Amino acid sequence: MAEPLSDIAIARAARKKPIAEIAARLDIPDDALIPYGRDKAKLDADFLKGLGDRPDGKLILVTAINPTPAGEGKTTTTVGLGDGLNRIGKRAAICLREPSLGPCFGQKGGAAGGGYAQVVPMEDINLHFTGDFHAITTAHNLLAAMVDNHLHWGNTLGLDPRRIVWRRVMDMNDRALRDMVQSLGGPANGLPRESGFDITVASEIMAIVCLAADLDDLQVRLGRIVVGYRPDKSRVTARDLKADGAMATLLKNAMLPNLVQTIENNPAFVHGGPFANIAHGCNSVVATRAALKLADYVVTEAGFGADLGAEKFFDIKCRQAGLKPAVTVIVATVRALKMNGGVAKSDLGTENVEAVRRGSANLKRHVGNCISFGVPAIVAINHFGTDTDAEIEAVREAAAEAGVEAVLCKHWAQGSAGTAELAEKVAALADSGRARFKPIYPDAMSLLGKIETVVKDIYHGAAVTAEPAVLKALESFEADGYGHVPVCMAKTQYSFSTDPALLGAPSDHIVHVREVRLAAGAGFVVAICGDILTMPGLPRQPAAERIFLDAEGRVEGLF
Ligand code: ADP
Ligand code: MG
Repeated sequence: MAEPLSDIAIARAARKKPIAEIAARLDIPDDALIPYGRDKAKLDADFLKGLGDRPDGKLILVTAINPTPAGEGKTTTTVGLGDGLNRIGKRAAICLREPSLGPCFGQKGGAAGGGYAQVVPMEDINLHFTGDFHAITTAHNLLAAMVDNHLHWGNTLGLDPRRIVWRRVMDMNDRALRDMVQSLGGPANGLPRESGFDITVASEIMAIVCLAADLDDLQVRLGRIVVGYRPDKSRVTARDLKADGAMATLLKNAMLPNLVQTIENNPAFVHGGPFANIAHGCNSVVATRAALKLADYVVTEAGFGADLGAEKFFDIKCRQAGLKPAVTVIVATVRALKMNGGVAKSDLGTENVEAVRRGSANLKRHVGNCISFGVPAIVAINHFGTDTDAEIEAVREAAAEAGVEAVLCKHWAQGSAGTAELAEKVAALADSGRARFKPIYPDAMSLLGKIETVVKDIYHGAAVTAEPAVLKALESFEADGYGHVPVCMAKTQYSFSTDPALLGAPSDHIVHVREVRLAAGAGFVVAICGDILTMPGLPRQPAAERIFLDAEGRVEGLF
């Protein structure tokens, strides 16, 4: 058998259409497009405003079992399902996150799908794209510069320089910048203090851009950002520093959704990319809302496994934006289920039906959880060449035991021909009107109660423990009027528990909350359970070592 083509080789061979032709598929007129070259465009702000009164299409969430190094393929399946819906004659659009540069040069490679289910131009989407991340980085660092400038010129707001929480950001994995002492070199360089950098996708501004309804809401949210505290612990905000107007100005274009196409020439919005641990991990509300006005079916992805990604999609994004999802698609692979059943990565090539059965406990748990939000679910088995019929049958049986259907999908190898059956079934579920979406906890519950609800109902843990300082902080957020916001859980993506090695479906574990942070602008409280890095490092052999330009100036080595 010939070696399969790399993702970038398939992407490069795609016969792209001019972006105006793709837009026309959704009846977006030429003058509503702001083209970035021939194959990318942003949608104009006036056009977006004018969409307000149209009815909404049906929203389909693609999520997955807990990730393993075997790979699950959520983005690939999101693209494949979008193409499949178009293939069966539905007017469908895709909504994805923008990839971050750091992981591109690290371990993960690109994030624009894979095989014959990709969005293009893959190189641009994975690299600088339309500059949104640059704008977010700059807006974030403007606020940081204004904080230090305020200290330098007399600190009339009375900020405690030891209690400044607003750091700087850069879109690169660089552990050297995690913790640092800044402003060395004398009084002209400002007030020396400890600080550091996070990766851009971890910026609260990324979360704000992705949750803001429009430019007015954006500026209000930016103004609410807490930059630090006074000695009496009272908060100082971006609004106090009069930074919100300039930040919103820098973000004006970054708020407009980006339109690209799949390799089958179907429309895809790729916009915003918040972390899925300390933020909510899905594309912008602006893009999802626009897509729902323009298409009958909108397929979107949430980061990590369903315990984190789908829960936050439902409890944070859908709650804040008033979205009502119609179907949840849970991606599973035989390989990842085998790993959940205890098989080592090196043994995944050998048939092991028993391990698939054991590992399917993970899938069943996610199916039950997703259904508990009132949204009907279906399992997509993302097919790998090494899967055997008996193993696939075991996944079908496990799904049936959890009360849902599982459909075998071959989009990675075949494009939309490989998801036509899934598309038929998803469209039928969406049209059935069965969805009765409800977040898992009400706004009015206490913040600790919300954390406990997620731990017990979604992670199937026994209890939450927390440092006294955490409980005090939660009380202070409530006293300051932030008790009504949802919680954003930051824990390992690999397990229902806080131990990344505990695969399958662990129960009755204790979840310890180490720290809580108020993201006042984004409108959630982050509960940190375990060690979460907001500035990743590069691995021993970074992907960057294999990325280069060939003799024709084409990008090689992105995958
Ligand atoms: P996720 O969104 O869950 O992180 P992706 O869709 O980005 O996963 O896929 C991760 C990687 O796995 C990509 O490089 C993709 O090409 C590869 N992949 C996905 N599905 C398959 C498949 N069925 N066969 C082989 N490789 C696949
Ligand atoms: Mg993905």
